[in-house]
Amino acid sequence: MNIVLLGAPGAGKGTQASKISQKYGLVHISTGDIFRANIKGGTPIGKIAKSYIDAGKLVPDEVTCEIVKNRLAEDDVKGGYMLDGFPRNLYQAGELDKFANIDICINIDVDKALLLDRICGRRVCVCGESYHISTLNGSTTCAKCGKPLYRREDDNPQTVQARLDTYEEQTAPLIEYYRAQSKLVTVHGGKGSPDEVFAQICARLG
Ligand code: ADP
Ligand code: ZN
Repeated sequence: MNIVLLGAPGAGKGTQASKISQKYGLVHISTGDIFRANIKGGTPIGKIAKSYIDAGKLVPDEVTCEIVKNRLAEDDVKGGYMLDGFPRNLYQAGELDKFANIDICINIDVDKALLLDRICGRRVCVCGESYHISTLNGSTTCAKCGKPLYRREDDNPQTVQARLDTYEEQTAPLIEYYRAQSKLVTVHGGKGSPDEVFAQICARLG
């Protein structure tokens, strides 16, 4: 099974992605994580990506599509994968359809008003877990691995607004794209715990 996970920044894609990949044995591919690793490692891709990410814009399609195409050519994805953060515009979706067979698109729908607070209150861990300050009770370390939590550099109010605008303009049209292919499944990510959102997804995936 090959899945595309769709949702605005702050919709909870990353959280659901780890749960889905674990339960269904899918390889989790996050373009955001790939870019952040490249920035950390000081690679040429990282250097290109950083200015776009800091501005809340999309990294150019040539760069992003190439990364995903190469990643999907590796052997470990043969048993199924989940794309988190790709595609992010109609061009990327069209390219993806040239080199991949997507079975289903899960759209995590969250009320716009919630997103800003969610992202600005987000704290993340190097292990991939993310938290919201409202449920941390003052803790500054990861409940899963004990490492210190930190705030993503692009989780600041200015960049967040630009990311939300980019989402509305470029990514939201993908909902119709996948609906037209009869691949769209929408779950409600606005209320309920991450486990409750996950239960909705499992109910739809079987
Ligand atoms: P979020 O969904 O919370 O915004 P991501 O980790 O998915 O976070 O992405 C962070 C940033 O990485 C995006 O704002 C964008 O600049 C860049 N990025 C990630 N995926 C893509 C993509 N498919 N195409 C272009 N840029 C991307
Ligand atoms: Zn951790």
